[in-house]
Amino acid sequence: MAVVVVGLIPALSVCAPAAFASHGKTAASGYLAYSNWSVCNGGLEQGREGIVRAVNILNAETDVNASIGSCDSENVSAWSGSYPESWFGLTTCTATGANGRCGRKVVRLNSSAIFASSNPAQQWNKTAIHEMGHVGGLGHRNVSSSCMASGEAPPIVAVFDSHDIAELNATYV
Ligand SMILES: [Zn+2]
Repeated sequence: MAVVVVGLIPALSVCAPAAFASHGKTAASGYLAYSNWSVCNGGLEQGREGIVRAVNILNAETDVNASIGSCDSENVSAWSGSYPESWFGLTTCTATGANGRCGRKVVRLNSSAIFASSNPAQQWNKTAIHEMGHVGGLGHRNVSSSCMASGEAPPIVAVFDSHDIAELNATYV
């Protein structure tokens, strides 16, 4: 575990600001290079349920084909556990894929921050779909009608709005 955390630190400083600042479609690591997302889903039950919910929404509403898959050939690795930082969730790029795009994304959901929020059940769902939006290169929004806003749910919803869906479908045609 210590090795994983140490290994993430350089990726955080390089990947996070560009991907988080806006819709990161022009950043080399901004979105997962593949429309088929195979998700390794581990850790706490609440987080795993949130990731499954997000996968179902992606399949129903976007051109992303997401599935919960094995944890030795995944291109999205999701883990829900307790981290000392204040963030609800964090997504980083850990490998280069096709055409210089990101080949593997790591999603982390932080139980210590989420359980301390005003509505943990909603916060798990919102954080899970928000981070999966970052997997697809979505940046932050300033409207509570999109899960891509930063902060607490409610008032922020736990679904993509039409703008988010259009951006994902422009990437994954
Ligand atoms: Zn974010």
